[in-house]
Amino acid sequence: MGERMLTPDVLVIGGGATGAGLLRDLARRGLRCLLVDRSDFGTGTSGRYHGLLHSGGRYVSKDPSAARECIVENQVLRRIAAGCIEDTGGIFVATPDDPDDYVDAFPGACAAAGIDCDEIPVTETLRREPALSPAIRRAFRVPDAALEPWQLIEANLADARAHGADAWPYQRVVAIQRDGRRISGVTVRDERSGASTRVVPRMIASAAGAWAGQVAALAGVELMMSPGKGTMIVYNQRMTDTVVNRCHPPGDGDIMVPVHTVAILGTTEELVEDPDDDETSSDEVQALINEGEALFPALRRMRVLRAYTGVRPLYRDPAVQGPEASDDGRAISRSHIILDHEARDGVEGLISIVGGKLTTYRLMAEQAANAVCAKLGMSEPCTTAGEPLPGMGDSRAHWLGHRLAEHEDRGGGDADLICECEMVTHAMLERFLDRRGPCSIDDIRRGTRLGMGPCQGGFCTFRAAAIMAERAPDGHTDRAAPGGSASDPEGALSTFLNERSKGTRAVAWGRQLQELWMVTGIYVGVMGLEGSSSEHGGEATEDHGAVS
Ligand SMILES: Cc1cc2nc3c(=O)[nH]c(=O)nc-3n(C[C@H](O)[C@H](O)[C@H](O)COP(=O)(O)OP(=O)(O)OC[C@H]3O[C@@H](n4cnc5c(N)ncnc54)[C@H](O)[C@@H]3O)c2cc1C
Repeated sequence: MGERMLTPDVLVIGGGATGAGLLRDLARRGLRCLLVDRSDFGTGTSGRYHGLLHSGGRYVSKDPSAARECIVENQVLRRIAAGCIEDTGGIFVATPDDPDDYVDAFPGACAAAGIDCDEIPVTETLRREPALSPAIRRAFRVPDAALEPWQLIEANLADARAHGADAWPYQRVVAIQRDGRRISGVTVRDERSGASTRVVPRMIASAAGAWAGQVAALAGVELMMSPGKGTMIVYNQRMTDTVVNRCHPPGDGDIMVPVHTVAILGTTEELVEDPDDDETSSDEVQALINEGEALFPALRRMRVLRAYTGVRPLYRDPAVQGPEASDDGRAISRSHIILDHEARDGVEGLISIVGGKLTTYRLMAEQAANAVCAKLGMSEPCTTAGEPLPGMGDSRAHWLGHRLAEHEDRGGGDADLICECEMVTHAMLERFLDRRGPCSIDDIRRGTRLGMGPCQGGFCTFRAAAIMAERAPDGHTDRAAPGGSASDPEGALSTFLNERSKGTRAVAWGRQLQELWMVTGIYVGVMGLEGSSSEHGGEATEDHGAVS
């Protein structure tokens, strides 16, 4: 079979929040666009972040313009993406160790950035959030919230598709050809079948996040990214209903975000060479807990479900920071920048959008789309801030318990539940599989939250694998997602469990270690899945004691 060839106006590389937002924006301006991602959508940093829709409070002291961007986009997303947002609100609390001058200046700095900020009495704060340290001495309320990334990405892609665009998962850009100064084509490889497609776009917009340097290098362009690895730990319950930030210069372990049924403490910050470095260590977990105890004294006794990492797409601008910039990731700007590689490097037909935050993805996409349109001689305005994303126009903001309420509205009962922790029903799973076709259990996790609650997939993964097996046509092997698919439910199960177990090695102690052994017993002892035994249970034993 010969190589397929496509000629869209714009090829967007990267299916994180930025790429999905960019595809939506360009498609709404009338351009024919294709987006490709080397993996499933939202498996880069956007699917591995902390979950916070920033009010901007975190940046008011060090980077007021980033703070202003955050609050403006926070308000835009509440209008256009209400169904992805749990309006938890946020508080900044001062512990006895936080500097007085920082705390005293905080409300004024918020006001200057346009962020609503009220001081609330400590007694009221402790009444609302009893897990907080009784030693806190001041508290300020700000409009932080929790933001669900995968639903947001899917909604952006759905709107883009409704405007004629296409988006392909598991399609890696492996080569970019040039004819002199001009980009002449792109080779995209299907990670499932190995087939390649040649794409000849008028423009390429790279939204490859921390991998933007690797993509630019394919076109012979030097773009220096400094991937900033951050580790976060997931607790088995929400210990607050509000986002809690420490009121001090940004540091490690100083934000707790309630996300659906769990709570996430983060983050650390370490510059790494390789954006695919996703190792977590017991030391990092311990350091996070040590810092977090200033906010939540009982933290050490709470059950940690897992640890995970994401990589910040930090851009080190040699013109601003010099080639010998500091090794401190927190010193590198969180702002975004659009790089016009024609003006910067003499390579026509390529722009990159780098840096930024998930909170500002829409603004980043708008500015990148403006740059693409200018290159193509178009002046259509951006419409993404005014139009709600599909399915979210009149939806209530997401709230903890909404799935339970919907389930009870339909009559309740356990029979239909596949994942009790996250209330994923058989019908929800079937709908997802109808929409996605062959996919891995990890894809199902992102699409439905199956396996993301306190049991971490212990009781629902084999049920999902069974449903996939029932649906698999005999001998079906094509279009299998990497990581197993309907045609190989046992492989899908092992891959998923091994992948999930990666994040549990660094947190295997106490009650969580007992849970890991129980899950190992189910999958290895009862179901005979030997392939996952060493990873799932064995690693847990090694780390026992290291962190306790
Ligand atoms: C630890 C941590 C915590 C954070 N917390 C917050 C927070 O609470 N709030 C907030 O607003 N922001 C937060 N951020 C920042 C935010 O997560 C990122 O800025 C944002 O998600 C980046 O999105 P993106 O779409 O630009 O990149 P990504 O989501 O990384 O998307 C890039 C995509 O490019 C794809 N790709 C790479 N190479 C290729 C190739 N060759 N071919 C095809 N596709 C390719 C990747 O698979 C990936 O899906 C956090 C970041 C980190 C690391």
